Amino acid sequence: MIILVGWARSETPIGRGPEVTCPRCGHSGAWLVFEKKTGPTLYFLRLGSRKTWAAACPVCYCGAEVHSSEDRDRLLRADPRDSAWLADLIRSAETTSSQPEWGRPNR
Ligand SMILES: [Zn+2]
Repeated sequence: MIILVGWARSETPIGRGPEVTCPRCGHSGAWLVFEKKTGPTLYFLRLGSRKTWAAACPVCYCGAEVHSSEDRDRLLRADPRDSAWLADLIRSAETTSSQPEWGRPNR
């Protein structure tokens, strides 16, 4: 008997975030907000999942991940006053060695 175990990952766009200038490509505009679910699978069925959220540049797909629903709501409010907060979040993500990409089609 073969036991099929795996790892599932999905990203779903859930709205628009604050307007920000992308530190990687320079695009200015609203970033997209994604919900990411990851978790183990058994015979292609999810056994559970963990949710995180991210705002990502719609041009180059670089993004910043958040781990609380409060921060997700802050992204979705798209309040211009949160642009500085998002820019700081992006800058901190830029310092990591592997910058994740969000929403890139055909991955
Ligand atoms: Zn960009």
